[in-house]
Amino acid sequence: MTAVELEFNFDTAKSFVQEVMERSDQNLLACYQCRRCASGCPVGEETGYVTPDRLIRMLVLGDRESALNNDLVWKCVSCYTCGTRCPNEIQTARVTETLKKISKETHQKPLSPKVAHFHSTFVSSALRWGRLNEIEFINFYEIKNTLTDLKNFRFKAIFSEMIAQGQVGLNMLRRKRLHFGFQSAKGRKEIKRLYQRAKTKQRG
Ligand code: SF4
Ligand code: SF4
Repeated sequence: MTAVELEFNFDTAKSFVQEVMERSDQNLLACYQCRRCASGCPVGEETGYVTPDRLIRMLVLGDRESALNNDLVWKCVSCYTCGTRCPNEIQTARVTETLKKISKETHQKPLSPKVAHFHSTFVSSALRWGRLNEIEFINFYEIKNTLTDLKNFRFKAIFSEMIAQGQVGLNMLRRKRLHFGFQSAKGRKEIKRLYQRAKTKQRG
């Protein structure tokens, strides 16, 4: 494997890490690379060489490209295990969320379109109803996935997804875990208001 040489630019590195620190509210400069966070990550086997400590190193070194495009950012399930082990209380889950947002705002192609679709469908559904309605959610989510696959001529992937989701649906139905009705939560206006407030705060 050929090592990629990273040209360190102090100003660029500083502004990027500062942006991530402010938006995630995490003091990344406190990280002393003890790697306690690296053990116990449930998605560790799927993220290649990128562990929470390495993601933080990328940010501190200003490697924006790698920090936005790696499997940890897109596969982190926000379980907060790494954060509970960190002696400096750094919550990597807040960092991965921030990086996904930056990626979206700067119109970068998501490394995992499925994760991006999941997030956007979840947010619109929660804003509409104040909660998720499974049938609506899964349909919108799968429509977005199918359109992405169609654009990329991934017909086999569409077929595999249909089979996989069909099986999940049948299993849920057998266990009476699939709900067909539509329900809305009380205080939907409040949820929308909080969401708008968070967005405004983020922009400001
Ligand atoms: S546990 Fe905390 S201090 Fe240690 S490497 Fe991970 S983020 Fe850095
Ligand atoms: S919060 Fe994300 S990075 Fe941290 S242990 Fe959980 S999945 Fe891994």
